[in-house]
Amino acid sequence: MISALEAQISARLRRIEATIELGALLTYDSAGALARARALSHPSAPRGPLWGRALVVKDLFTTRWGVTTAGSRHLAHFQAGVDATAVARAIEAGAILLGKANLDEFGMGGDGQHSALQPMRHNLDPARTPGGSSGGVALALAEGLAELGIGSDTGGSVRQPAALCGVVGFKPSYGRISRAGLIGFAPSLDHVGLMARSVEDISALYMALAGPDGRDMTALTRPPTPPTARGDLRGVTLGDWRAPDITPGMAEAFERAVADLQRRGARVVSRTPPDLRDALRVYHDIACAEAFSELARYDGVRFGARAAIPEGAGLRQMVEETRALGLGDEVKRRVLRGALLLDGEASGGAYEAARWARARLKAQIEAQLEGIDALICPTTPCPAPRLDALAADPGLIYDLDRLTAPANLMGGPAITIPMGQVEGLPAGLQLIGRVGEDAAILSVAAACARDLERAP
Ligand code: GLN
Repeated sequence: MISALEAQISARLRRIEATIELGALLTYDSAGALARARALSHPSAPRGPLWGRALVVKDLFTTRWGVTTAGSRHLAHFQAGVDATAVARAIEAGAILLGKANLDEFGMGGDGQHSALQPMRHNLDPARTPGGSSGGVALALAEGLAELGIGSDTGGSVRQPAALCGVVGFKPSYGRISRAGLIGFAPSLDHVGLMARSVEDISALYMALAGPDGRDMTALTRPPTPPTARGDLRGVTLGDWRAPDITPGMAEAFERAVADLQRRGARVVSRTPPDLRDALRVYHDIACAEAFSELARYDGVRFGARAAIPEGAGLRQMVEETRALGLGDEVKRRVLRGALLLDGEASGGAYEAARWARARLKAQIEAQLEGIDALICPTTPCPAPRLDALAADPGLIYDLDRLTAPANLMGGPAITIPMGQVEGLPAGLQLIGRVGEDAAILSVAAACARDLERAP
């Protein structure tokens, strides 16, 4: 006889076939997931806090099982042989790993079209992007394959696809969840991010994953504080970042959400956002500079599929051909931009300037958070764009991160919760909190999400 958990997992696994076209998962392990469901169903099996929860993990995290591709041809056959800390902790807490989710190569991209293995499509309209780079995780949750997802968020890669697909996405404070086993893109901006369909599930996942880790020296050493449940929004003050240049539909949905939160007891004060386009430039300067050094290891010697070269050709030719063949255009573009930026003379000190601008921006956002519980704004400037619109306007893909990247530069917690629909597509409301106050932002977000769900 099969247990209720095995039946539930096997029903989820059946949905995988139906979503192949969307490109949600790169690899999956049906036999492993079912065997684990069976083992967890045994009366003597430990009942951890994530017992039996179906999990997908962005294929930028290493796993003992299968390959870890980073969405790149270069690592298409890479077997890490070890679970990333975040993955190990989720499994330890009882989660069942269904498979590895698709992503833009190395996490570089915001539209799901830069996976070297398969482009992704929005589940509600295949002519649209599901967002990126953790688009596969968002799709798996939106389609009910999985209940919990682990992704990475360097400039918005968890919150942005979560918002475009109508699920909850959370980026905790920098260092709050260990990055050991997360393939790096830009280490000072990379965060482990979480996705689920409710803030309560996000909180449970967060508590299971956060905490010190000897494998990551940037992981915070204090254990995480659990979020407290709050009944309503009385006593909560939100700072409304009236973000410019968002579509009229997004602006209207945001107005409605603000009015609803006020009606239910929140005090909403206005806050002028920093120059968000400038912040996005700073984000890209720092991200590309760090990517340049982070990706140096993919040379066909230490990591990656080595290109075949004629006998007698030197190391240099081997490395050049390996990179030329293995890495996609967006990755190459960023590595080249990073190389130029780090040449202080050629770039006029651009990297140093970006670092100064980052520090200024962090101070500015921190000052805006004084005396309030969270800053709020739409998570994206528009709902999921059409793929033809993205192809016609090369700037649009970057613009999708305009509202999420500031929280990465600053390092504080930020979460997106669904705020209804715009043009028949999901829209997200983002809350940004003070560095280290992850539990507080989760408590407020849970109360906001409940209210927004009940809203007409
Ligand atoms: N879309 C952003 C970029 O292309 C963010 C990526 C991320 O958070 N990994 O850089």
